[in-house]
Amino acid sequence: MNTGLVMETYKRWPVEFVSGQGCTLVDVEGRNYLDLIGGLAVMSVGHGHPDVTKAIADQAGRLAHVSNLYVTGPQRELSERLGQLTGGFESFFCNSGAEAIECTIKLARKATGKPGVIAADGGFHGRTMGALSVTGQPLKQEPFKPLLPGVIHIPYDDVASLEEAMSDKVGAVLLEPIQGEAGVRVPSEDYFELVRKICDEAGALLCVDEIQTGLGRTGSWFAYEHSGITPDVICVAKALAGGLPIGACLARPEIADAFQPGDHASTFGGGPIQCAAALAVLDVIEEEGLLQKAIDGGARFTEGLRSVFGDKGTVRGRGLLIGVEFEQDCARPLVQAALDRGVLVNDATPRVLRLAPPLVISDEEIDSGLEALEEAWDEIGAA
Ligand SMILES: *Cc1c(COP(=O)(O)O)cnc(C)c1O
Repeated sequence: MNTGLVMETYKRWPVEFVSGQGCTLVDVEGRNYLDLIGGLAVMSVGHGHPDVTKAIADQAGRLAHVSNLYVTGPQRELSERLGQLTGGFESFFCNSGAEAIECTIKLARKATGKPGVIAADGGFHGRTMGALSVTGQPLKQEPFKPLLPGVIHIPYDDVASLEEAMSDKVGAVLLEPIQGEAGVRVPSEDYFELVRKICDEAGALLCVDEIQTGLGRTGSWFAYEHSGITPDVICVAKALAGGLPIGACLARPEIADAFQPGDHASTFGGGPIQCAAALAVLDVIEEEGLLQKAIDGGARFTEGLRSVFGDKGTVRGRGLLIGVEFEQDCARPLVQAALDRGVLVNDATPRVLRLAPPLVISDEEIDSGLEALEEAWDEIGAA
């Protein structure tokens, strides 16, 4: 596989894609694939959605960039739309998930005056130095030490360790509502309610990383909504602009007020093309009823996966963010066997298969995906 002169930081599958439509991708040889991972939870409205494509093309022809020294309509409008979805949170726009986390770390320090951050083992928040410091995966961190001081990692879904780790030096608790990269780990029903209480008592901000779970993936706009809490800061990115680079740190206005001109910036952050794309994505989610489709599609997929894997795999998740955990390290061979059958899935960990298909996926596509996974499962013989 020719990967050009790109640095080898990715373990790539030997496929080169050239186009896509809905849940279907086409490679250089003209072969079709069913995409059940959607660019890692990015392509929620599907590939090549006409409304998003048109919004991007129109905005590119009108105005591509003016810098953040001036106002543009798409950025203002997107901040207002995200404000409507969050009960008035204010936005800082950047270009990726990791940058939304960086902004969160800086904002929490400035707003609370306390530099400490508590995050969870297994959590994933990105690869820049700050985001890597809060990511709870020692193997990813080790070669790049020293990292940001003052970060404490605790077991996920464990209230007692959070209580123990909390101190007057901690300004932020940063958690994913469902841990994606750790293998689609769903916490206990009351976990976030209890975390909220501990943060309030300590005067620490509760920051949720919704980069993978947000914007409809789990059947609600944000996954934190399932736990009935209101966070202080919300990070979004992946699915927001239909494949264009964007990230946002959303914060309650009283917290956002801590930032003053000069405190934080990004040249491309909130650019008109990305914001126009994001507005189109949010429209599509509403117009096509994609929150409900995530719930219904998720139920069909989950049920189907349970019958394919039986008691050999534990199926979990919410909406269309689904993981299947096996007792052996069979996720990667399974991904390979599925790829051979023209179906894209992902191995979140060596023993967890992850699915995050476009929310527009049809029942027929779900069923054909299940069929291919069943064949793949039979082929690898892990059953
Ligand atoms: C993907 C991801 C990130 C990092 O986003 P990038 O855009 O790759 O920097 C952070 N947190 C979570 C939960 C993610 O899934």
